[in-house]
Amino acid sequence: MAAAARTLRIGLIPGDGIGREVIPAGRRILESLPSSLGLNFSFVDLDAGFETFQRTGSALPDKTVETLKTECDGALFGAVSSPSTKVAGYSSPIVALRKKLDLYANVRPVKTTAGSSNGKPIDLVIVRENTEDLYVKEETTRDTPDGKVAEAIKRISERASSRISTIAGEIALRRQNIRSTSNIASVHSQPMVTITHKSNVLSQTDGLFRETARQALAAAKFSSIHVEEQIVDSMVYKLFRQPEYYDVIVAPNLYGDILSDGAAALVGSLGLVPSANVGDNFAIGEPCHGSAPDIEGLGIANPIATLRSVALMLEFLGEEAAAAKIYAAVDGNLDEAKFLSPDMGGKATTTQVLEDVLKRL
Ligand code: ATP
Ligand code: MG
Repeated sequence: MAAAARTLRIGLIPGDGIGREVIPAGRRILESLPSSLGLNFSFVDLDAGFETFQRTGSALPDKTVETLKTECDGALFGAVSSPSTKVAGYSSPIVALRKKLDLYANVRPVKTTAGSSNGKPIDLVIVRENTEDLYVKEETTRDTPDGKVAEAIKRISERASSRISTIAGEIALRRQNIRSTSNIASVHSQPMVTITHKSNVLSQTDGLFRETARQALAAAKFSSIHVEEQIVDSMVYKLFRQPEYYDVIVAPNLYGDILSDGAAALVGSLGLVPSANVGDNFAIGEPCHGSAPDIEGLGIANPIATLRSVALMLEFLGEEAAAAKIYAAVDGNLDEAKFLSPDMGGKATTTQVLEDVLKRL
């Protein structure tokens, strides 16, 4: 007897610019998953972003937050444009969403495929703590006889360090599963988590992060994971010299922010890199790129970052098999390299890349 079908309700938040071109591709791939997976989807369109702000006075209408909280299992977020000069009353809706839904982990996989890599294959994930560290934004400035002095609080808590490390461990285990259930080639034979910090200098804050991460990853369920740690500066060096070495990297907010963007540069185009904003009961998939005003409306935005973000969201909703199918279809498209968008050196439109990926599902 077939298992009962599961229906997931997904909020779609295209936002601005090419967000409106890539989020529909994300919807299409969910609708095109094979029925044998036993998954159905329903969708609700939601507003957020700069255009929404100009129209309604709010970049993140209450209705969007309420609908996500009360109706949705997960969401896809496109991109929002950031005005080049500060606009009174406007602030980033994705930052606000992370707070309102307590999405405390920012997860960013960076992966090359055999066909799309000039060097060794890279297949790593950066798991960035997203609620504290220097980003609590508690800054002060005071006048002294020698001029102004500015200070900022760097807050690290046991609770936040522990939950981010646990998520990192779960991701490491799941990646191993996903690889073994699809044809995704991997350079990693054993799951590994690298704890990143600077506790040689910041013995209390980063020291607490390191201790807590060590403890969380010592849990029995993580016994198959090789846990190691690395000081953040040497991490940067090695990440660029030998990116194929890494599997899962867990870091406090600031180091995670820097490492995420740095690692994304290793794979060529921003149009390939997905992310997810994850909490205990919710996940939002979000391509790493912005609204890309320079190519808006041309129909040539690369949808792959979004398609991979869809898969990532599904992973966190417990649908590993569906995620593995999407990853494999995307890898197939990149390996064959017949339908690539202009950012990848090809000539294919957003729709042509999407159709090629759908064909491989
Ligand atoms: P924003 O302020 O919204 O971040 P931006 O001008 O910084 O906008 P990004 O979206 O960050 O633009 O993109 C940086 C560059 O990468 C741009 O040249 C853009 O065209 C390109 N790019 C980003 N995403 C994609 C994509 N999905 N497909 C093709 N090119 C992309
Ligand atoms: Mg940008």
